Amino acid sequence: MIDEIRSILKEIGEDPSRDGVQNTPLRVDRAFRFLTSGYRMDPDELLNKALFDVAYDEMVIVRDIEVFSLCEHHLLPFFGKCHVGYIPNGRVIGLSKIPRLVDMFARRLQVQERLTKQIADTINNKIHPRGVAVVVEAQHLCMIMRGVEKQNSVAVTSSMLGAFKDNQNTRNEFLNLVRIQK
Ligand SMILES: [Zn+2]
Repeated sequence: MIDEIRSILKEIGEDPSRDGVQNTPLRVDRAFRFLTSGYRMDPDELLNKALFDVAYDEMVIVRDIEVFSLCEHHLLPFFGKCHVGYIPNGRVIGLSKIPRLVDMFARRLQVQERLTKQIADTINNKIHPRGVAVVVEAQHLCMIMRGVEKQNSVAVTSSMLGAFKDNQNTRNEFLNLVRIQK
């Protein structure tokens, strides 16, 4: 990527040999490889050793997971919080794996809607719970920096499956616990 990033610097009117930006192509190359490292990760590998049979059938919630991703339209960051809930049906996912699952999908080029759905679908397919709920609240620099949106606007996306989709009380319980306005 290094040569291509040097070309971009030229194209935007920079001098790629200037002191301050001389090593920028190398740094951008490393940064982008890290920020897109989710392409080289596999949900099965991440989760398969962290699935447990547990006789617990109440709602499990992991709230306020930090999300940093890149929008696939502008390669600019969007970032915010992700809240994940599910109701087990005999199996649970190790709690620490849920933020890592979020990271795995966030470290790819994304649209917020798909990111939200991929997290929910993966949990659903892995442990077949009674329901899954995922809400992502994020600010998009491609909108804010370009003046398309006001500074503080937040995009909220949700994916509700099973009991969270079918039962309004269940959905409301989740939304109350993660403090989302209904
Ligand atoms: Zn964008």
